[in-house]
This record gives sequence, C-alpha cells and structure tokens, in this order.
Amino acid sequence: KKLGIALVGLGSYSTYQLAPALLETAHCYLAGIVTGTPEKEQVWANKYNIPKKNIYNYQNFDDIAKNDAIDIVYVVLPNSMHADFSIRAAKAGKHVICEKPMAMNVEECDAIIAACEKYGVKLGIGYRLHSEPYTKEIKRLVKNKRFGAVNYISADAAYRSMSNPEQWRLDKKLSGGGALMNMGVYAIQSVIYGTGENPTSVSAQQYSTRPEYFKDTDETITAQFEFESGAIGTIMTSHNIRANRLFASCQNGWFELDPASTYIPLAGRTSKGILDFPQESQQKLQMDDFAKHILFNSPNMAPGEMGKRDMVIVEAIYESISKGGQKIKLNFTPNYGFG
Ligand code: NAD
Repeated sequence: KKLGIALVGLGSYSTYQLAPALLETAHCYLAGIVTGTPEKEQVWANKYNIPKKNIYNYQNFDDIAKNDAIDIVYVVLPNSMHADFSIRAAKAGKHVICEKPMAMNVEECDAIIAACEKYGVKLGIGYRLHSEPYTKEIKRLVKNKRFGAVNYISADAAYRSMSNPEQWRLDKKLSGGGALMNMGVYAIQSVIYGTGENPTSVSAQQYSTRPEYFKDTDETITAQFEFESGAIGTIMTSHNIRANRLFASCQNGWFELDPASTYIPLAGRTSKGILDFPQESQQKLQMDDFAKHILFNSPNMAPGEMGKRDMVIVEAIYESISKGGQKIKLNFTPNYGFG
C-alpha cells in the first residue's frame, strides 16, 4: 500500500520540491492538498490528478479526519503556523510531517509532540538530509570513529537574501527569527551529526550590516559549542552571506561536505578521498523513509524530539546573544533527539 500525503501550504517548497518528489516515491503519493488560495485548487488538481474530495482550505481542514485517502499531513507553512496545523492534523488522526524549524519555540514543540502522542500518530520533521547518502555516510564515519575522535567541527548554512523585504521569513511574527530559524538549524544539525553528540554549552554573537533590510530578524549569527568528548564546534548562519559547508578535523584525518545542506547535488571529501554517492531527490528519500516508518516500523529518521532539541539550542543561542555572548549550559540526555 502507498500512503496518501496531503500537503498543507502550496508555496515554493511544496511546488518545486515536495510535489515533484511525490511522483517518484515508492511508499507514498500526493493524495490531497490544503490551500488558502482557491486559484491553486484546479491547477494542482489537474497537474497531480487530485480528486475534489481531497482538497481542503485552512477553515475546513479539520474535516480531513473523515477522509481515509489521507494518511499523512505534511505541514509546509510559515513557521508560526506549524504548531497549529500539526496539532490539528494529529487530532484528525493523521500522521504528521512538520517542516523545519519545527515551531516558533520549545513550548510549541512540546505541544506538537504531546498531541501526536495523545492521538497515537507518528511525527517526523522535514529534515531531508537524514535520508540522503552524504549525510548518512558522515554519520557512519563518525559512529565508527573512522578518523578517530572529532576535535573540531565547523558548519556554515547561509545565503544572501537580496530583493524581497516583504517576505514572511523577515517578519518575526511569522518566522520566529531570521537566519538562525531558517538556515541555522542546518548548521546546528551538522555539528551534532558530525560529532555524534549533543552540545553541552553554547555562546553566540549577532551581526547586522543591513538593518534597513533586516528590520525585524537576525541577519548573521555565529555560535560556538562545547561537547562532552572535548570536541569544539562553531557555526555561522546568515541571510546576507553565501556559505554552505561542513568541515571536521579529527585525530587521524578530516572530512568535509561542500555543499552540506543544499538540495542535490551535494559533494564531499575526506582525508582518504572523494565521497561519491547517487544524487537522488532528498525529498523523495525523506518521505519514503517516513512512510516506511509508519508501514514497517523502520526508524524515524527525524523524530519530533530532534526538532525540539534544535529549538532548545536556538533558544539558547538567542539567550546568549541577549546576554552579550555569555556561555549557556545545555543539558541533554546522551541520545536525546538522535534518530
Ligand atoms: P513560501 O513562502 O514559498 O510558501 C508559504 C506558503 O504558505 C504559501 O503557499 C502561502 O500562501 C502560505 N501562507 C499561508 N499563510 C501565510 C502567511 N500569513 N504569510 C505567508 N504565506 C502564507 O515558503 P516555503 O519556502 O515553501 O516554506 C514553507 C515552510 O517550509 C517553512 O517552514 C520553511 O522553513 C520550510 N522549508 C523547508 C525546506 C527544506 O529543505 N526542508 C525548504 C524550504 C522551505
């Protein structure tokens, strides 16, 4: 059986990545849509052969509870709407994929996790990289200590936003924050899977060079992490600088992904040579992994606890910045948030 997915929010990620990927998936398919824009209904219905009964808007969305064709609701809305729609989906008895960043804050993450537990549905975060081969290889190398202990790790996840000051990503009410909420979570993820550990502390700094464009949200942030093993990490995230990379220096070598968190193609090297893996749609792999988790009880590659952990770190970074870079202690149980 192929599970039916309903995409909620038909913006650029749904349009250009998720819907095309759902034409290639083996264990799920695009069964329904939820949109606030009536003009999109017919266009999507025609393009993806979606029956009228599987088309909802934000108001009648809760009726999806009665629709057996929909197994999974995938929330692809601005961050401020993630918690509301994830919780409503859980209440409707649907499994939930919630895009990154999971929510506006830790409290909302807790509410989503609690709702999915209460209504007995699975929850996955849209962290597509955990299903793609370059990231998986780094995780494997780290787990096996292929190059010995990781001593230093650095990750950048950043792009330059040029032309649209009106976009929701620059509006704190809708985004919860700027670069850190958008790309920063990838850099946080990189230093965690690239060491195989959760950090024990973080200190952070914020920089602003275009305050007239970034009126409401962070432009560039750097942060430094300590890990139990003695490894140290550093990240940079920005809406005003181009960079996308992961580099780790280990006891007996090094590894690197560059780019590390963009869509395909990704690329990587280690001190032993080039990494070369198939460049398949990451979104296809991610949604199939989640469907397999439901169908065959295979591992959940990006559970809700992982999204919450990253939000704990995001909040600690903002706290450190507000306290002039003060070191903030983090207190995760050893495997908290790992898939
Ligand atoms: P987008 O702006 O292209 O689309 C947003 C959608 O939400 C649109 O369909 C819009 O109509 C709808 N919407 C409803 N209420 C809105 C409001 N008040 N303001 C603005 N839009 C509103 O955004 P996107 O790039 O598709 O991002 C959507 C979500 O997906 C975000 O949480 C983002 O972080 C996430 N995302 C994840 C990845 C990834 O690689 N995992 C990539 C892109 C986006």
